[in-house]
Amino acid sequence: MGGYGSGRAGWRNKVEECRSLDVNRLHREGCLAPGYSGGWNWMRDGESIANISMHSNGLTLTLEFRVSQNGSEWKDICQPIRLDSTPCRFGGSRPWFICPGVGSGRRCGRRVAKLHAGGTYFLCRHCYQLGYASQSEQEFDRLLRRANKLRTSLGGEPGTGALIARKPKGMHWKTYDARVAEIDQLEESANKLFIAAHQHRWPDISLFL
Ligand SMILES: [Zn+2]
Repeated sequence: MGGYGSGRAGWRNKVEECRSLDVNRLHREGCLAPGYSGGWNWMRDGESIANISMHSNGLTLTLEFRVSQNGSEWKDICQPIRLDSTPCRFGGSRPWFICPGVGSGRRCGRRVAKLHAGGTYFLCRHCYQLGYASQSEQEFDRLLRRANKLRTSLGGEPGTGALIARKPKGMHWKTYDARVAEIDQLEESANKLFIAAHQHRWPDISLFL
């Protein structure tokens, strides 16, 4: 079972968690050539998880798909993306997408190799700040490591599910209270980061017919 769309002429399959389009891959597969009409199919475990139809006139690649975010109603999207190319040092040229994103009233317009479906449209990494999730994950780990170190320094077990140990003998209450307060604060910050990083989910994308 290859997922629907996979047997269609001009369709390409891609195994990747993120719904992203790579301009070099599309170029190699002939999807940017004038007159191309077909689609792209994202696969996981042999099943289609998302797909879009695409056609190119050589200057613009037009994507057509339906999008639903967090279970909201499906919206039909037709998204033209301008193409550009720059000469290579040893001849030939390499293609680029011109990111169609608009942020704070300004067009992004960056020449990029990849566009990602991080919201309604396919936009570049800068527009979706996809680097954010991994950065915040590092910070999340750092906060919890510090909290765990404090938990074990008091003689307790690491992990937010464990009880914080009682005050060790010989330790001042002031010191103990300060450590407990710091553990609470670190774990609360980690929790806030986790929520912020994960509320941004990949939308569902389906073929627009
Ligand atoms: Zn952009």
